[in-house]
Amino acid sequence: MFNRIGVIGAGAMGRGIAQLFATSGQQVLLFDTRSEAIDDALAFNRNLLERNLAKGKLSQADFDATVARMHKADSLEALKDCDLVIEAIVELLEVKQSLFRELEAIVSADCLLATNTSSLSVTGIAAGCQRPERVAGFHFFNPVPLMKIVEVVRGSRTEQRYIDGLVQLAEQAGHFAVITPDTPGFLVNHAGRAFGTEALRMLSEGVATAQQIDRILRDGPGFRMGPFELFDLTGLDVSHAVMESVYEQFYHDPRYTPSFIAAQRVAAGLLGRKTGQGFYRYE
Ligand code: NAD
Repeated sequence: MFNRIGVIGAGAMGRGIAQLFATSGQQVLLFDTRSEAIDDALAFNRNLLERNLAKGKLSQADFDATVARMHKADSLEALKDCDLVIEAIVELLEVKQSLFRELEAIVSADCLLATNTSSLSVTGIAAGCQRPERVAGFHFFNPVPLMKIVEVVRGSRTEQRYIDGLVQLAEQAGHFAVITPDTPGFLVNHAGRAFGTEALRMLSEGVATAQQIDRILRDGPGFRMGPFELFDLTGLDVSHAVMESVYEQFYHDPRYTPSFIAAQRVAAGLLGRKTGQGFYRYE
């Protein structure tokens, strides 16, 4: 169903999504308002593929073909022939709404518009569109090629054929697709409040240090990462936006109250790996 995929936003998620689908055989066009972000993302992906080539996980022919399927788009208009566009831009409702409105004037009437939003309402993002039935959530996890699961989110008006198309595409790329309703935080970022927001509450109440909480959750229940390691990987700016969004959508249910610690650390630029320092330092 999808041969030509546009990806908007060349940050942590967009670059991973571009790599996933280029590897699985689709032509991918990557766009970002910052041209240098696209160059960085393409160089980053090439580097990862080179490492797989060196390790013998990828043949030279597959390496060449995958790299050749990843293209830089110089403008949004370059996405006009795509049959699917996936946005992975900043987590702000109005910005995503305005991007989709702009895209509707560029792409064909049948092009599926998917959002990688972590927590915003897919129905809300679709609300400003002329054809909300072709808008769906396609929520990947970081790093995309390695985290082989994705939430396919059905907005109130999403047509079933688009949901089916995304499930089929994800499975063809080797990811397991879970169809979720359009509830705040979907499945993962709803359950994740008990992991992340609660860990911040424990920190602010002096129950334990970030390192202690990470250690016990890794080595006790066996999570791959503790909540603070995960904040650093995700980017606290992204995680804090998710906390605020879920809180708003649940009408300020105190269970989901975001943390002032997160707000302050975002203001200070302590975002995690992407800024070199978060709850841990990165050289
Ligand atoms: P990021 O900050 O790493 O990258 C975002 C990119 O989008 C930047 O390069 C920025 O220049 C670009 N951008 C911003 N506004 C734009 C616009 N209007 N048009 C084109 N490009 C624009 O962010 P990220 O971590 O990749 O997150 C992107 C989206 O994915 C967010 O909605 C986030 O909630 C979601 N998400 C993030 C994670 C994660 O672990 N980081 C996981 C799942 C979903």
